[in-house]
Amino acid sequence: MFEQLNPYALSLIISALISGVTAFYSWRRRPAPGAALFALLMLAITVWTLGYGLELTCLTLACMLFWIKIEYLGIATLPGIWMAFTLQFTGHETWLTWRRVALLFVVPAITLVINWTNEFHYWHYRSVAVNTSSPFPLLAITRGPWYWTHIAYFYLMLLAGTILLWQMFRRSAGLYRRQAGFILMGALAPWAVNIAYMAGLRPFAYLDLTPFAFTVTGSAAGWGLFRYRLLDIVPVARDKVLESMRDGVLVLDMQARIVDANPAALQFLDRSAREVIGQPAAQILSRWPDLLERYKDVYEAQTQIVLDNELSPRYHDLRISPLYERRGELTGRLIVLHDITERKQAEEALVLAHDQALEASRLKSELLANVSHDLRTPLTSILGYTDLLQAGGYGPLSDKQQTVVTRIMVNTKQLLLFINNILDQAQIDAGKVELRVSSFNPSNLIETIQSTMSVLAQAKGLELTGHVASEVLPTLSGDFQRLQAILMNLVSNGIKFTKQGTVHIHIYQPDADHWALQVCDTGSGIPRQAQTYIFEPFRQVDGSVTRAQTGTGLGLSIVKQLTTLMGGEITLESEVGQGSIFTVSLPLQPIPEKIA
Ligand code: ADP
Repeated sequence: MFEQLNPYALSLIISALISGVTAFYSWRRRPAPGAALFALLMLAITVWTLGYGLELTCLTLACMLFWIKIEYLGIATLPGIWMAFTLQFTGHETWLTWRRVALLFVVPAITLVINWTNEFHYWHYRSVAVNTSSPFPLLAITRGPWYWTHIAYFYLMLLAGTILLWQMFRRSAGLYRRQAGFILMGALAPWAVNIAYMAGLRPFAYLDLTPFAFTVTGSAAGWGLFRYRLLDIVPVARDKVLESMRDGVLVLDMQARIVDANPAALQFLDRSAREVIGQPAAQILSRWPDLLERYKDVYEAQTQIVLDNELSPRYHDLRISPLYERRGELTGRLIVLHDITERKQAEEALVLAHDQALEASRLKSELLANVSHDLRTPLTSILGYTDLLQAGGYGPLSDKQQTVVTRIMVNTKQLLLFINNILDQAQIDAGKVELRVSSFNPSNLIETIQSTMSVLAQAKGLELTGHVASEVLPTLSGDFQRLQAILMNLVSNGIKFTKQGTVHIHIYQPDADHWALQVCDTGSGIPRQAQTYIFEPFRQVDGSVTRAQTGTGLGLSIVKQLTTLMGGEITLESEVGQGSIFTVSLPLQPIPEKIA
């Protein structure tokens, strides 16, 4: 098979075998970025080294020329493939358009054609002969003009690729750095051989040492790939996003070894990439035994965890996702750790502020309730005495005295209503309103309000009328005191906002299940846009301090809340300048057996 075999030929053939296996292995993993081009690169090296190895076994010129033509399939294409591979491997794949790739192969294509047709023009080799002065026959050539063009292109590409690799090696970390390191080492081998050649280190004049250098290249790259099984797990060119991410990212293989960690993860672990990559996760994360135990065999999770730091606990969003090869085989796990401590602290501060605000509001309501309660007792007594005075209980009054006593009464009643409202609001805020349901006569309700409020109406020259519709049951049930509060507020508003005419209270049954309290006035009316917001606390149509009428803006809000509590609803019909109709519709309730 071989014309003769020597150690040089043998070492080249073995080297070709290694790079051949590497090429095969990488080709099988070609879905991984860079793997296909790497396989082609290794194939070119294999063709070259194998061809040269076989050339060295030749005794005749014809045999040598045959193999050299085969070798050139690898030699000529190597610079183009190399350049494309280094561009992709170092993350410059966007540069690789089909046009540019084609351009990379212009010189190689010419080299191949010129080499294969040398005997017609001698542009590649000026002369070829067999040299027999060395221990075994070697092809002796004198270089032609295209040979130098090819060499210039070859080294130019080698240099450009080496620079790209060097830049990547300097900026990358961990596993990638090692892999880039291996390939860089491979790329540097031909340079070393060249330097040695130029320094005069040549075993035989015509022995080309470059294929031997590529033996180193192939083996180094092969070792790098097999040892770290990189193409199995993560893409060759590292995603730059991962580098700059603030979230910690760890990649674990099937044996739970850390095969990748981004700078954020390393900073969190307070370790260097060298200390972490390749180590079992159990060892690197031993500070958190509970977590290790919990997520030991978990390939998919999303949860919040607390990790104790030296200073304070830090909250993290932990996300574990399985990593699959293109073929669908599980290859490891991706762990992403997102620090949410600030968000958590802000949330806690918000909850605290909310609780404090609630507490403050509760204390305010309590105070208001107490104050209002204490104000009510003396006010009721003032009202009682004024009533007696007015009725002549302490002797007849002059007209002037009557007027003054009426004014005292009007103001005291307004003050009482106001205080009652504050007390009711405080109770509603504190959630302490309990309805005390009893049975009552609807006419009685109107009369009570009339007797209390007529003095206010009279003071303004208004009529306060009332009517219970015939269909209304003689006895209704409800919280009499709260119903009074509702009516008093509505009637007081009616009086307040009416200059002339009537305020009328009407009780009727709109349907079989409801009864209704209606207060109609002939007053100013309420603009349409204000008709919804006046039911909100402290809202008034005229909110200015210079407004004509007194009031707090609490009345309607209390009326609405009490109505809702009673299971009813309030509606308003109003036309500016015409008057307003407030209707409180309430469910008819069964009469309680025990009269409270
Ligand atoms: P207050 O009467 O203390 O201001 P209310 O909550 O009882 O507070 O009423 C809110 C606002 O709704 C009043 O300020 C007034 O502008 C308007 N309003 C209420 N009732 C009437 C009414 N019958 N006619 C005209 N405007 C009214």
